[in-house]
Amino acid sequence: MKKKITVDLSVKIVKPEWFERLSNFSKIVRVFCWMMRFVNKLRKKPSYDTKTLTVEEKAKAEIILWSIEQKKHFHEKENSVHGLQVVRGDDEVLRVKTRIIERDDDLSFLYPILLPSKHYITECLIREYHLKYCHAGVQILAAKLRLRYWIFSSKRNIRSCVSRCVVCKRFTAKALTTPPIQLPLDRVRESAIFEITGIDLCGPLLLKPRGKAWIVLFTCAVYREIHLEPLTSLSTESSINGVHGQCYKL
Ligand SMILES: [Zn+2]
Repeated sequence: MKKKITVDLSVKIVKPEWFERLSNFSKIVRVFCWMMRFVNKLRKKPSYDTKTLTVEEKAKAEIILWSIEQKKHFHEKENSVHGLQVVRGDDEVLRVKTRIIERDDDLSFLYPILLPSKHYITECLIREYHLKYCHAGVQILAAKLRLRYWIFSSKRNIRSCVSRCVVCKRFTAKALTTPPIQLPLDRVRESAIFEITGIDLCGPLLLKPRGKAWIVLFTCAVYREIHLEPLTSLSTESSINGVHGQCYKL
């Protein structure tokens, strides 16, 4: 009789967040703004009635968005998160208590907003800063973001975002190299000057008060000498004269 084997598999289905449909930080904030307006109207709370979003409204929405995400990712314990001293302001957002709070500076620089690492919105924010500062590198981005935000393992997060930028990849890609090839015999053998010659024509050059001129360029394949012969027309006779002129001089 066959032995029955029962296997218990637990599958956890992670439902994607609403913002994961959007790839742009500004757009996430804007959509969240409209959502807030809608909820406020349903709750009959005072809300903005303008056709476009205001700057204050967007700033407020960003703060609320961060406070919601912070509650999901950080567990504050005696004003500390993973060993970092934090304070919760009136806006319910967690801010890092830096060591420079005695300095007379902007409040968001002294108390930057704490952001979760490897978070979708954080990555969108880094990407937005990267584009805003013309594909800036890791050091510049870290400094610019630090003015307002405190990201856990910020350098690692920024480096990973920058390394995924297609435009930066194109500019940092190594050029293809090929092994040097041997020169043909006509380039290296002993010969008289201009014995092996290449000819090209450049122009037209505009002459004053009127007229055009061209230049026949003779190059010696062995000694790399050059000789220029002027032409005043592109007719067959003129071209032949130009070549003959060079031959006579030699
Ligand atoms: Zn880039």
